[in-house]
Amino acid sequence: MFKKKYLCTFISVSLLFTTVNVVYAAPSYVDKKENEIQENNKKIKDLENRNKEIPKIQGDLKEELNSLQVKLEEKEQQLEDTKSKINHYENEIAKIEEDISSISKDIKETEDIINKKIEEIKKREEEEKEKEEILGQRLRGMYINNPTDAILKAILDSGDFGDLISRVNNISRMIKLDKELIEEVRSMKENLENERKGLEEEKVNLDKKMISLSVNKEKVKSTQKELLTEKDNGQSIISDLNNIEKDKKSTINKLDKEKSSNEQDVSKLVEFNDKARSQIDNFIKNQINNKPADKTPQNDKEQGNSSGFIRPVDGTITNGFGERIHPITGVKGMHHGVDIAVGRGTPIKAAQGGTVITATYNDIYGNMIILSHGNGVQTVYAHADSLNVSAGQQVKQGQVIAKVGSTGMSTGPHLHFEVRINGSVVNPMSYI
Ligand SMILES: [Zn+2]
Repeated sequence: MFKKKYLCTFISVSLLFTTVNVVYAAPSYVDKKENEIQENNKKIKDLENRNKEIPKIQGDLKEELNSLQVKLEEKEQQLEDTKSKINHYENEIAKIEEDISSISKDIKETEDIINKKIEEIKKREEEEKEKEEILGQRLRGMYINNPTDAILKAILDSGDFGDLISRVNNISRMIKLDKELIEEVRSMKENLENERKGLEEEKVNLDKKMISLSVNKEKVKSTQKELLTEKDNGQSIISDLNNIEKDKKSTINKLDKEKSSNEQDVSKLVEFNDKARSQIDNFIKNQINNKPADKTPQNDKEQGNSSGFIRPVDGTITNGFGERIHPITGVKGMHHGVDIAVGRGTPIKAAQGGTVITATYNDIYGNMIILSHGNGVQTVYAHADSLNVSAGQQVKQGQVIAKVGSTGMSTGPHLHFEVRINGSVVNPMSYI
């Protein structure tokens, strides 16, 4: 909108000054603005390039995220497996511990029984001894020392034969009873011994079982320990992967933010450039209206003319440098360069080697080039038909940088040529 409005204004101005074929400008101001515009254009290009890169980076990150999620799922599955194995082994350990405690109970019971048996055996042994002793005494008293006497004594002591028989019978019955009793105790003792042996064998078996259960328990425990380590490792890997995932997601978000902030910066720079462009145009228009220049041109005699410049085009000088009365307004004003009339399409050569600061279109200067030659020396070439170079480029002296034309505020093909020293215009004729 602004541009259009400006163009309308410009047309009315150009109609007023159709005969004007000279251009006035304060070089330092235009130069500064042009430089700002060029710098902004570079920034815009950088920002736009960066914004082109961002979706690619984000795409890569998203791909990495996908493979990360696959890995995470895999690791989580592994962790679940490990956890269920751990549970399984925990159950196994509990079972083994149950078995161990039941076997220890059995062992204790068996030991108790064995001890009881041992006690019983001892009692039986005492009983046997006692019985043997009684029988021994009896036999000693009645038999062993003098068996005939014993029977004789029984005969003598007896009142009659019946009594005698009964006495002898009694003795032998007593002996027989004692013997039977001893046998009985002995066999009881033997039985107890056998039982004890059996119990002891049983105990040995229980001990063996106990040992094998303990070994098994240790094995299961060590397997479980390994699984617990595996679980810890799995969990730490998962937490690492989660952190990486978080980082990548936050980078993607940051890049989104960067992109929209870059877009905002670009639109601000574009807006700034539009404003600067119209400021330049307005400034030059004001200069054309023959307002006094910002700076008084330096005395060209001080500059000397042996600075190694060449003439950019050969032709007739139609308008010289310096103050003059404007042909239309009659106001005193400055012409900042010289106008050299020459045919359209004639090559414009760089007056000296240097760097292209500006290569652009301007509504007043038309297609224009500003070259910097160092030490604050610049040359300006205006109204070109076409430009052969671009900003930032290095050019050699005599290199064709543009073709003569009549663009911008111009009535016919000519080159408007300026020389600026530290931002102030000087008479180019002292140089070319
Ligand atoms: Zn001119």
